[in-house]
Amino acid sequence: MALIVQKYGGTSVANPERIKNLAARVARYKALGHKIVVVVSAMSGETNRLISLAKEIMTDPDPRELDVMVSTGEQVTIGMTALALMELGIKAKSYTGTQVKILTDNAFTKARILNIDESNIKQDLDNGYVVVVAGFQGVDANGNITTLGRGGSDTTGVALAAALKADECQIYTDVDGVYTTDPRVVPEARRLNKITFEEMLELASQGSKVLQIRSVEFAGKYKVKLRVLSSFEDETEGTLITFEEENTMEQPVISGIAFNRDEAKITVLGVPDKPGIAYQILGPVAEANVDVDMIIQNTGADGTTDFTFTVHKNEMNKALNILRDKVQGHIGAREISGDDKIAKVSVVGVGMRSHVGIASQMFRTLAEEGINIQMISTSEIKIAVVVDEKYLELAVRVLHKAFELDAE
Ligand code: ADP
Ligand code: ASP
Ligand code: MG
Repeated sequence: MALIVQKYGGTSVANPERIKNLAARVARYKALGHKIVVVVSAMSGETNRLISLAKEIMTDPDPRELDVMVSTGEQVTIGMTALALMELGIKAKSYTGTQVKILTDNAFTKARILNIDESNIKQDLDNGYVVVVAGFQGVDANGNITTLGRGGSDTTGVALAAALKADECQIYTDVDGVYTTDPRVVPEARRLNKITFEEMLELASQGSKVLQIRSVEFAGKYKVKLRVLSSFEDETEGTLITFEEENTMEQPVISGIAFNRDEAKITVLGVPDKPGIAYQILGPVAEANVDVDMIIQNTGADGTTDFTFTVHKNEMNKALNILRDKVQGHIGAREISGDDKIAKVSVVGVGMRSHVGIASQMFRTLAEEGINIQMISTSEIKIAVVVDEKYLELAVRVLHKAFELDAE
């Protein structure tokens, strides 16, 4: 007998038929004697619909009220899922994030989970219930509803698995595992039977939406056994995220390619080159809770420096306003500009540690297609480049081929 958390994404609960299908799978696991906690997302398209509704009223919606609205999507699906289970004669009970008490900080629309009160869930499981929990939402210390950022139901699933010390967390989605890249962009992409935790963390942080990055962080921190599976096909084993220290010599050099269309580039030109500049530019941006990803700084012969960094597209204007209002005059920058027509492509693999020449192979492949590289950042197991967004799909396809990810 095991305790299993099963998380179902939007397409897996897109209509009553699929929810019945989900309930049938849960029933099969229950019949084997397992304790099951189900985490569901909103029906596919629903979160986007709710965000658009909010924007029809306020262009830049107040984040607290936005969370009140978007959290309703998951409240609908937990009720439907519990009903579908009851229809199969299974005892089921649904909980919103507030009812469980998934305690988060108060960063509305991108809150972080601080603690989960697992006592009620444990008691229900002991009493033979299947417990259905709303993904993506929590509650702050003052009782405000919060949400965990897009794709946040993955994080609810893994965090619950950690809190309950579950034997496994299964992420059911519309693909049958983690692929070498997004199969929607490269049809030749292949499913990976397993992937190391470190690689999954890089892929998620570089934009692979199959798992939200925070869910992978939780899995790593609490050593949650995590598997990505298809909710439509029962026969595949999916992809297991592994923690073993594997011999990296035997690993493929590159395991996957991730990309991200959600970033924008901000450039601060002609800044005097002296200590403290990076802090003066990025300090106010960080204080406004805007996350910064890539950063580069180039010093010219004239003693001034150009400073470029990327932020989420949604936060480009906010960051530009902060810089123009509070920073530009203060540091004497010549010009500040933003560009949201960029995309980031990253190749990831632990095998990179024992291989040289991966970066040059990547840059040559892009050069042969005439794709200009605007920014570069690297880690031990990743090389990421920023390119013009119109070349994104081409870049992913040619790199996938160049690193032979389509080969058996
Ligand atoms: P869910 O609603 O179930 O959470 P998501 O849309 O969030 O599903 O994530 C699944 C999608 O992630 C897939 O349909 C696929 O297009 C995309 N994806 C991106 N990168 C990958 C990858 N490397 N492997 C598999 N799927 C990927
Ligand atoms: N419904 C939320 C979203 O669309 C959370 C999730 O699906 O994981 O982002
Ligand atoms: Mg998702």
